[in-house]
Amino acid sequence: MTDKGWEPVIGLEIHAQLATQSKIFSGAPTAYGAPPNTQACAVDLGLPGVLPVLNREAVRMAVRFGLAIEARVSRRSVFARKNYFYPDLPKGYQISQYELPIVAAGHTEITLEDGGTKRVGITRAHLEEDAGKSLHEDFHGMSGIDLNRAGTPLLEIVSEPDLRSAKEAVTYMRKIHTLVRYLGICDGNMQEGSFRCDANVSVRKTGEARLGTRAEVKNLNSFRFVERAICHEIERQIALLEAGGTVVLETRLYDPDRDETRPMREKEEANDYRYFPDPDLLPLVLSEDFIEAQRADLPELPDAKRQRFIAQYGLPAYDAAVLCASRELADFYEGAVAASGGQAKPCANWVMVEVLGALNREAKEIGQCPISPTMLGGLVRRITDGTISGKIAKEVFEAMWQGEGDADAVIEARGLKQISDEGAIAALIDEVLRDNPTQVAQYRQGKEQVLAFFVGHVMKKSRGKANPQRLNALLRERLGAG
Ligand code: ADP
Ligand code: MG
Repeated sequence: MTDKGWEPVIGLEIHAQLATQSKIFSGAPTAYGAPPNTQACAVDLGLPGVLPVLNREAVRMAVRFGLAIEARVSRRSVFARKNYFYPDLPKGYQISQYELPIVAAGHTEITLEDGGTKRVGITRAHLEEDAGKSLHEDFHGMSGIDLNRAGTPLLEIVSEPDLRSAKEAVTYMRKIHTLVRYLGICDGNMQEGSFRCDANVSVRKTGEARLGTRAEVKNLNSFRFVERAICHEIERQIALLEAGGTVVLETRLYDPDRDETRPMREKEEANDYRYFPDPDLLPLVLSEDFIEAQRADLPELPDAKRQRFIAQYGLPAYDAAVLCASRELADFYEGAVAASGGQAKPCANWVMVEVLGALNREAKEIGQCPISPTMLGGLVRRITDGTISGKIAKEVFEAMWQGEGDADAVIEARGLKQISDEGAIAALIDEVLRDNPTQVAQYRQGKEQVLAFFVGHVMKKSRGKANPQRLNALLRERLGAG
């Protein structure tokens, strides 16, 4: 989107909560939804005399991410204190990484709307602790503080300012969302705040090399909000600049109810945080063995899986992208293909249209699908071997969804076997032709379209079970013979 000669520039800071059992510097549990302040121990509260101990699992997860984006995994990285005052931060500082992050200089590729691809640079990804939460309801003009979230491990993934539209930014964010779930390092639950981002937005005159001044929109926790907030910010900045104003470096909040961004605070200069290495934590040193063990343990990643689906199953790029959106969905698809006897494209259609459609209708995840991959493959097999027509197959699918058993059981119980017997179909055709002499005459005078009329009537008489190829052939034969 280049509006009236302006070019938007966007960089995202994505916060992914790492799916560890315990916190990054303490043994307190990270589970979401516990009663307030029941999951924060002395370390999370920053009580005097306690020391942080780094969670090895969080480190392992950060390394896996670094390897997946072909980044430099630092053999030595350093934890730093980021000092600021806020009620949800009891220590008065957040432990983060500053000059030496654990992951630096990676990249990923996104697919654009026109089918082209774009490489997005990932400047760094560093480990840090999440803060607590302020609660504003139920406190009659005061705020409550819940420190359960304090100390939850975060991986902050910082992109280069390589994105040029709200759509590109969302595509990139979805890509990272898919990646962290493939890696099993983040549950990706955006409602619960496990995956959220800050969007940095600026605009500049098309062709201008220097970047414009940016504003940062904080804490966006849905893909839709990311898109809306960025669109708004772009429009606001263009209007401001065209009216002769200047954009100020500031932090803004997106208000979904009013669908606008509002200033929150002027942006602190980096040195206001008075970053310094945390004296309570040693530098993090990783061995080659540890890193190589993580590399060996990586799963097949989304891009590789997508390429394999295209090559191995002959799928269109679009189908492969949809089916590889999650590991669970991709596994479901491959299970169905195997059970269908290798019907790759029909299985892709059934998964994308019927399975995803039904899951969407019932707001379910693929893991909750009442039809197993084997059952779906079995259904596709009965279409290809001519036992049922594609149309009847939809009825069988619904019955399977409602728990009536696998395809063969449903076909048997409901008597849905396709009629392929020529004599039986011919008898139905003869009845229809006898009952509709006017249309027969029309056909013989060259009105080909009435063929569909006959097909429809015979199908109806067979209750949808006549084999469509046989029906068509026999019908032409009989009409021709008159
Ligand atoms: P800070 O740590 O103060 O938020 P950084 O320099 O680390 O600042 O940048 C944070 C994010 O802002 C990065 O994702 C980066 O790509 C993006 N960014 C930096 N400058 C601009 C700009 N002029 N316009 C848009 N995004 C920018
Ligand atoms: Mg920032």
